Amino acid sequence: MIDYKEFEHLRNFSSHGNIKLIAVSKTQPIDKIQELYHHNYKIFGENKVQELREKSPLLPKDIEWHFIGRMQTNKVKYIAPFVSMIHSLDSHKLALEINKQASKNNRSILCLLQFHIAREETKHGINMEEAENIIASIQSEKPGNIVLAGVMGMATFSENHEVIRQEFRELKNIFNLLKEKYFKTDPAFREISMGMSNDYLIAAEEGSTMIRVGSKIFGPRNYPV
Ligand SMILES: *Cc1c(COP(=O)(O)O)cnc(C)c1O
Repeated sequence: MIDYKEFEHLRNFSSHGNIKLIAVSKTQPIDKIQELYHHNYKIFGENKVQELREKSPLLPKDIEWHFIGRMQTNKVKYIAPFVSMIHSLDSHKLALEINKQASKNNRSILCLLQFHIAREETKHGINMEEAENIIASIQSEKPGNIVLAGVMGMATFSENHEVIRQEFRELKNIFNLLKEKYFKTDPAFREISMGMSNDYLIAAEEGSTMIRVGSKIFGPRNYPV
């Protein structure tokens, strides 16, 4: 069941804060996505290439798809024709492949550098040095079809709000440093994707421009992802 009260609240909250709300539909069936679409919402996030590949052809073409999961280089080609943004850029190799596939499809794909900000080792992401290497290689080769649009991160799953806040603050600092050093005159580099069902309020306070919310809208998922 979609929680429309929660959804409307999130929609108002994000539009007032000038934050993009991404409805994370992973593990949810097509009809739930359709339902939200008919409720006039068109921005969805998925974290598995296979799942996104199966769902997208069955759904309206004007959905704005965000890919938020780990990305294998050899799978980029399956979503390159339609994906709007990839939030999980974590290597130079992946950047080159995204560029190649985007250019084959004659389009641009926006990408966010995914940073490791949480205490948990299981959470994925890169550090500053790796990010700078990716940026340097993209900027020197000027590939053109991959557009670096900002940063993404996931906070530690914790009841301790101060821990979460600190991690979001760190991501915002990383964004500021990169913006100043590499993207000062590049308006495309502007997004800070942080905040999920349990921590989006803190993320918003710490400067998030995109929140990725799943279970608060769609209810609990039937399997953990
Ligand atoms: C699943 C997922 C979300 C949404 O999580 P909820 O807690 O259900 O809001 C956000 N971001 C990423 C990267 C995810 O994998």
